[in-house]
Amino acid sequence: MKKIAVFPGSFDPITKGHESIVKRALLLFDEVIVAIGVNSEKKYFYSLEQREEWIGKVFEGEDKVRVEKYEGLTIDFCKAQGAQFVLRGLRSSADFEFERSIGQMNKALAPNIETVFLLSTPELAAINSTIVRDIIKNGGDASQFVPDSITLN
Ligand code: ADP
Repeated sequence: MKKIAVFPGSFDPITKGHESIVKRALLLFDEVIVAIGVNSEKKYFYSLEQREEWIGKVFEGEDKVRVEKYEGLTIDFCKAQGAQFVLRGLRSSADFEFERSIGQMNKALAPNIETVFLLSTPELAAINSTIVRDIIKNGGDASQFVPDSITLN
């Protein structure tokens, strides 16, 4: 059976940390779906179209990576896509504590879906979309933190 992983997130914007997790996951899965979660109550910095376009650009030519958007529960999206895995990155113990609850609750709701965690590589562990946005809002240059193939606006 084809092993499909969903990598959910806001990707506001996609960073080198996200890029690295997806690339490393390609060794484990036949397909990785980078899934932009759309929450109508949340305000985003970049438009959905912009975030989608950037992710598409980063993984251009990589036919094992697909970009999708979804609303609702991640496990429901996984089921709709026939994905057996949720992929998440772990940067720190704070990430772990947060992810543990979500992972365990998702497991209770959908026992057939496994959450798989990849540890961030040390040089990318500090990269965080929130801080990237703060740099941009304050007129700084955040280009070193985002994939080389995209230009932030
Ligand atoms: P969310 O909206 O769920 O906070 P993000 O878009 O910030 O999502 O991140 C999506 C996933 O990418 C999460 O699993 C997060 O831990 C992981 N991630 C974000 N930045 C990094 C990084 N620098 N290294 C490894 N994983 C990361």
